[in-house]
Amino acid sequence: MSDLQKIKLALRRFAREREWEPFHSPKNLAMAVAGEAGELVALFQWLTEAESRALPPARLAQAADEIADVQMYLVALADQLGVDIPSAVAGKMARNALRYPAAEFRGSARRHDEPPD
Ligand SMILES: [Mg+2]
Repeated sequence: MSDLQKIKLALRRFAREREWEPFHSPKNLAMAVAGEAGELVALFQWLTEAESRALPPARLAQAADEIADVQMYLVALADQLGVDIPSAVAGKMARNALRYPAAEFRGSARRHDEPPD
């Protein structure tokens, strides 16, 4: 069993033990993903690029907690929608590889729909 499968089953059990399933609609879980992503982003707000690359241990632990929150809600959302995350990721990465050929986008942060400099 994959790590994602283990997380999915643990989340199902956690929600079932608390009778929280009625709250876990796709809408609510998508909103929870956004909320937790906001908490993650807030940890980096106002930091310099260099500061963001060298977080103090306590801040790094907070970031790890928020990453976990985002991941858990994403897994729960995918579970509710019947989305297989590894398959979805593989498909999106294949499309991104076509959209962003390495030879054309190496060292560039431009979007695929922006003209080259
Ligand atoms: Mg959080």
